[in-house]
Amino acid sequence: MAYPSPYRVGMSSLGYQWICSVLAEAGLGVERCFLPDEPGQVPLTMESLSPLRDFPVIAVSLAYELELAGLVDLLARAGIPPLRRDRDPRHPRVLIGGPLTFSNPVPAMPYADAMILGEADDVVVPAVAGFFDTGEFDHVSTLPGGWVPDMGSARVPVAKADDHLLPARSRLLTPDTELADMFLLEGERGCHRACTFCVMRRSTNGGMRLVEPERLSALIPEAARRVGLVGAAISDHPRLVDLLGTIVDSGRGVGVSSLRADRVALKPDIPRLLRKGGYATLTVASDAPSQRLRREIQKGTTEAHLVACAEAARVYEYRVLKVYMMVGVPGETDEDIEELVHFTRKLAAIHPVALGVAPFVPKVHTPLDGAPFAGIKTVEKRLERIRSGLRGHRAELRPTSARWAWVEYRLAQGGVAEGEAVVRAVEGGGSFAAWKAALG
Ligand code: SF4
Repeated sequence: MAYPSPYRVGMSSLGYQWICSVLAEAGLGVERCFLPDEPGQVPLTMESLSPLRDFPVIAVSLAYELELAGLVDLLARAGIPPLRRDRDPRHPRVLIGGPLTFSNPVPAMPYADAMILGEADDVVVPAVAGFFDTGEFDHVSTLPGGWVPDMGSARVPVAKADDHLLPARSRLLTPDTELADMFLLEGERGCHRACTFCVMRRSTNGGMRLVEPERLSALIPEAARRVGLVGAAISDHPRLVDLLGTIVDSGRGVGVSSLRADRVALKPDIPRLLRKGGYATLTVASDAPSQRLRREIQKGTTEAHLVACAEAARVYEYRVLKVYMMVGVPGETDEDIEELVHFTRKLAAIHPVALGVAPFVPKVHTPLDGAPFAGIKTVEKRLERIRSGLRGHRAELRPTSARWAWVEYRLAQGGVAEGEAVVRAVEGGGSFAAWKAALG
């Protein structure tokens, strides 16, 4: 099981850890391999320090578009031609899955012998075991979410795991990952909301699937000192307060993967218990810069919810209120950005704010698929306006790069040609100029 980013990132991915466990429990000899930190270092597996190219099958989890560069780098450093058409029977076969496959898997196609689109929980074992029976991946095309690019089949619907397999959970407590010594546990899967930019919205695999707190509590190992509750909409779990109470009362720390501002506003026990469990940054998403745009993208968050979050952050003495935001949302004007600046000042007057701003990138399988990217210059101009507007207030802008968002946009909306361009971008040194030249 390869992860095309360094160890600390890969081991922070519950999905990656979970699929490793599923394969190991089925008796398949699975070893983990990550993109080495040092340039030029050859990737070796964690368990036996074996070179990646010695394995018959390399299963790869891709989280998002830019990790395709990590995949190309990983394979090239292992001495394996990244593109399928350049490999021969002496090379390992590459099976690709992961969160990226919910949206647009086509740019990953030139690298894969087979893909599993969507939830791989109960498909990955027959996919891999079948390879050892036949020496081929053709059977993957008969599995839910199975896609064999070489067989020319059209893109298939994503797989949905059987509910009895939930929750995913980590087996190892990994002291040196991003989520240090935290036991990751999936409290729910999917989301019942309808934000128009989001791949995990309710139309994906039937929306939200809950796991009962009693089952979750019973799965927490005695030795776990901290528990990370994972789920696209974990704060919509109707019994989250019970679960947080049980974890915190057992003396453990607790964290969550995401919080909806309306839940924090309506259930103050959520921020209270999280703080008691050592959660230090209250993080919520607002997603669009103005009330008008939030309505348009069907984000239910209101100014009143966000004000209540800032007040909860103050009352429970959080270090900072972090608000996720997008700029470049379709239909956005300078007035929307002005509203964001003025409203953020209002929040910052209540409690220090960190504004995590990402340029909007339209994704396949969402209602905003095909919407335009706002443009690097426009995004940079708007980021600059936010930065200058917040100067002197207790609000810090933490933007992601407009340039890299453009690369992500080209891959997110791209096809095979954009996928193959990743090889040229990596060979060209991986700078933005190299990407621009490669993508044209
Ligand atoms: S953005 Fe969040 S709340 Fe909205 S559909 Fe996606 S997971 Fe659900």
